[in-house]
Amino acid sequence: MMATMRPLIAICGTTGVGKSKLAIELALALSHPSSSHPWRGARIINADAMQVYAGMDVITNKVPESEMQGIEHSLMSFKKPGEQYVVGQWVQDAMKIIDETHSRNQIPIVVGGTSYWIQHLMFSDRLASDEVDLGSVTASESLAKSLSSLPSELLEIYNTLPEHASDALDPPAALQLHTLLSALDPTVAARWHWRDTRKVLRSLRIMKGTGRKPSEIIAEQSETLSSPRYRTLCFWLYADTPVLHQRLNSRVDDMIKQGLLDEISSLRRIACPSGLPETADNVTADYTLGIYQSIGYKEFHGYMSVPQPSKKLFDEAVDQMKSSTRRYAKRQVSWLRNKLLPAVYAANTEANNKPPTPTYLLDATELGDKWENNVLDLGERITQAFLSQDELPDPKSLSDVARQMLTIEAKPTNPAAVLNSRRKAICPVCTVDDAQPVMIEEGREWDLHETSRTHKKLVARAQRIASGVQWQPRREKTTVSDEDEDRMPSETDGLTDALDNLRLSPPIP
Ligand SMILES: [Zn+2]
Repeated sequence: MMATMRPLIAICGTTGVGKSKLAIELALALSHPSSSHPWRGARIINADAMQVYAGMDVITNKVPESEMQGIEHSLMSFKKPGEQYVVGQWVQDAMKIIDETHSRNQIPIVVGGTSYWIQHLMFSDRLASDEVDLGSVTASESLAKSLSSLPSELLEIYNTLPEHASDALDPPAALQLHTLLSALDPTVAARWHWRDTRKVLRSLRIMKGTGRKPSEIIAEQSETLSSPRYRTLCFWLYADTPVLHQRLNSRVDDMIKQGLLDEISSLRRIACPSGLPETADNVTADYTLGIYQSIGYKEFHGYMSVPQPSKKLFDEAVDQMKSSTRRYAKRQVSWLRNKLLPAVYAANTEANNKPPTPTYLLDATELGDKWENNVLDLGERITQAFLSQDELPDPKSLSDVARQMLTIEAKPTNPAAVLNSRRKAICPVCTVDDAQPVMIEEGREWDLHETSRTHKKLVARAQRIASGVQWQPRREKTTVSDEDEDRMPSETDGLTDALDNLRLSPPIP
């Protein structure tokens, strides 16, 4: 099996770390014939979800054509700004190009910051049958049974699910959605805090779309392990956070000099119904769709929406864009550590021969000569050894930062195990209002919770009441504690999560 798996090089990492440059340099190095392997030349395949869009080169940070040095770049600049293009389509397109590239005896180099695209390309998907057809869906036997025993008010909610989580933001509506999910699929409901409406709603919509309970889909997927599609040499290009932040900040300043605002204007014109002035109300682009997700578009919305914006508004927009960029970089690292590395390690552990997905961190913290040594030369040497099927160095031996960043806590990667590892439970002591139960994740968080001040105070109070001591009515807040709020998963937490993989996208072969 190993011998027939064809090679692929993948370059991941945060935005602004020099991935495109490394890809081009590696491709150039591969253009020289080698005596130890048959490959010659390389083709670069874009794996950045924003760079698939035509034009808008500044806001999407495309490498200028003058720097491509004649290396062919595929899947770049071919979609219109309003179009949707999702992971399943990209994986199919990329696989086609990889086939072509191999048939020319060239090496495909996949490069981009959208690591989950790369991950779905490296590993064949568990979710092949997961296509959601919202047209005609028949409920599975077990879902039909659960639906038939729903109280009518919950059935009504199921039949009229809100489109977006923001439509059910008030606590009673949010709790009701969670109650509905608990009635239909208690295993999955236990995974989400009732306030995490986005996740709760998504589970419900998956159920409605597929006619099956998410926990059933996950149990099935757990039986088929995801397997590597290619023998992939994966590079994680990394820069220390303070250095990266500096580079990202100055890149935002550069982008503004290079015409960022003109690009945002043209995106706004596309998003604005023709003839209307481009005021905040008329420009209706959905920030969660296509290129409108580019960092900068949303941040400059307020500034661009007033006729004579002040310098202050401009400075605020710049600051917001910088902080959004930093947060994005943080999420990217979080994905690599929490999702990609566990998948890579699981595949490498299963292989009894050579690991199919050797993964290296290259330290791009310092530029200049150091970059030549730590990134380029090292990357080239590893690439040549990989293509020649030679012995490869231990990834953690390359540098301190490599050892640190490539070492992760062992985490379950099997979807069913992941699902059951992060159950939430209601704390009966802290729940003083049944309409707003306090939920805590079982395990470490629960243990922490039990030692928290809020919880201990309420335990003591309960004991006093039980022992008959009269107590003054409490004056402090009795709803959800601050700690509870803190524990709310953020929109983009990078934790390994089987449910996150249930995507509403075309099937991946
Ligand atoms: Zn408690």
